[in-house]
Amino acid sequence: MNRDLLRKQGRGCWICRAFGRDDTIDYELPAGDPGSFEADHLVPKAKGGTDALDNLDAAHRACNLWRRDKSVAEVLAIARRQRSASQGARRVRPTTDW
Ligand SMILES: [Zn+2]
Repeated sequence: MNRDLLRKQGRGCWICRAFGRDDTIDYELPAGDPGSFEADHLVPKAKGGTDALDNLDAAHRACNLWRRDKSVAEVLAIARRQRSASQGARRVRPTTDW
């Protein structure tokens, strides 16, 4: 099963990676734990996605729950906004040079 293949590959969470966070998944965590591994359908099955390996990637359960029915493009757009916002915050951080 492709789910077991993902597990064997020890993949990181693609959603965390998009957000620039630590994408490490602890594959030892029991199913149902927010940090546990889930096989995420990139195109949801409800939208015609399949169980083929190229439609699956690893995600934390919590990230998968957060994503719900957002498309990959939406997730990447949110990640991009958040990353540029935090870069902006860094830019306007006051310096001690005054
Ligand atoms: Zn994650």
